[in-house]
Amino acid sequence: MKLVIHRGTKEIGGSCVELDTGSTRILLDLGMPLVDEKREPFDSNKLKNKSIAELIHCHILPEVSGLYEGQRRGIDAVFLSHAHQDHYGFLRYINPEIPVYMSPGVRILIEISDIFIPTKVNLRNITTFEMRKPIPMGEFVVTPYLVDHSGFDAAAFLIEGDGKKVFYSGDFRAHGRKKILYEKMIADPPQGVDCLLLEGSMLGRENGQYRDEKAIEERMVSLFKAKENIAFVFCSSQNIDRIVSIYRAVKRSGKLLVIDLYTAYILDKLSTISKHLPQFNWDEIRVKYFRHHADVLASTKQKGLLYKYKESKIEITEINDNKKNIVMLMRDNSIFRACLRNLNNLDGAMAVYSMWEGYVTGKFRDVLAEYQISYEYVHTSGHAVIGDLQGLTRAINPGCVIPIHTFHPQDYPSFFTNVRLAEDGEEIHV
Ligand SMILES: [Zn+2]
Repeated sequence: MKLVIHRGTKEIGGSCVELDTGSTRILLDLGMPLVDEKREPFDSNKLKNKSIAELIHCHILPEVSGLYEGQRRGIDAVFLSHAHQDHYGFLRYINPEIPVYMSPGVRILIEISDIFIPTKVNLRNITTFEMRKPIPMGEFVVTPYLVDHSGFDAAAFLIEGDGKKVFYSGDFRAHGRKKILYEKMIADPPQGVDCLLLEGSMLGRENGQYRDEKAIEERMVSLFKAKENIAFVFCSSQNIDRIVSIYRAVKRSGKLLVIDLYTAYILDKLSTISKHLPQFNWDEIRVKYFRHHADVLASTKQKGLLYKYKESKIEITEINDNKKNIVMLMRDNSIFRACLRNLNNLDGAMAVYSMWEGYVTGKFRDVLAEYQISYEYVHTSGHAVIGDLQGLTRAINPGCVIPIHTFHPQDYPSFFTNVRLAEDGEEIHV
C-alpha cells in the first residue's frame, strides 16, 4: 500500500493523507491550513478569485491527481475525521462525483456552517457512516472509531488493504467528556497495525492549568457562584463538550444560560444524535435573537425555527434586569460589542475565555478594558497530552509511528519507538 501525507507532516492544520493500493485510491481529510509557510495565520483571502490550477501551483491546494472539480475522477472516496476546517476546509474544490464519508454529527455541523459561514463547502455527495462498522471501498476496508475530541462525533480510521493496516488517529484526546472512548480503545485496540499516523498537537505545548472538562466545569461553578454581574463565556458553539460543561456549571450555580439562535440551532439539530445535549427549551436556557442570526435563518428553509425557539426568547431588557443571574455565551465579534452598548452598569462583569488563548486579539482586550470587564482564561485542549498519546501507541503497538498534525515531528523519537519521519508529498510504502 502506498501512503502519501500531502500536508501535515510538519504542521497543525491542512491535514490530507492519500492511500493507494494501485487500483483504489482514498483520501483521509482535506483540510485548510491554519498557518502559511512563514507560520503566520493562514489568510483565506488568498483563495479568492483563484482557479484550482492556480491554487495547486502556489502550493495552497495539495497536488492530488484526479481529486478536483474539472479533473477526470481518480479518487474513489474521501473519509472525513471531523468537522474542523483544518480537516475539511478544502473539500469545496473536489470533483462532486467523489463520495465524501463522514459521521452523522459531522454532516450536521458542516451543513450548519454552510448556512452561517459565507465560504461554503457545499458538498454534493455525502455518505454517512456508523462507527465501528467496516466500509468496503474497492480494495480497502475502512473502519471508523468514535474518538473523544472537541469536534463532535469525530472519528479515527483503521484502513485495511493490500494485506496491510494503517491507523489514522485523527484529532483526539483522553480528557474530554467522552474519555471512556479512549479507555475502550486502549483496552481493545485494533490488532496488527503496520503504521500509525499519530497526531501530536500537544508536542511542544504546555498542558495548561485545567486538566480536563470536569476541571473546567468545577472552575466555572465557582466563578459563576461568586460573580456580581453578568458573565460572558467565549466559546465555539460547535465545541459541544464545552457547551455541556458550561451548561452544567450554570445549572449547578443556579444561573440562567443565554445562548444565541446559532447555538440553539446547532443543539437542536444534534438532538437527533444525542438526547443529552442541552436544548433551547430546557429550564436554565434562554435564547437571545440577534438580528444577524435571525436574518440568516429567515433566508433559509429553516425559517419556522424562529417561531419554534420563540418560547425561550429573552429580550435585552430582561437581561439588563437580571444580569447577576445571567451567563451569556459569546464570541468576540460585532454582536458582542453591540450587546455591551445595550447593557447598563457592567460593574463586576466578567469574561470567561474558554477557547485557545491564541485567538485573543488586542482589540478584544481593549474592549474588556473599556467596559472594565474582568478576564479569566478557562480552557483545556481538544488534543491528547503526551502521556495519552504514548498510552494509545503502546496499546496499538504499531510497526511504525508517523507524525502528523504537529509542529514538532522531530520530538517524536523521544516519546515513541519505531518513529518514521515523513515529508509532505513523500511516497511511503507500507
Ligand atoms: Zn485538527
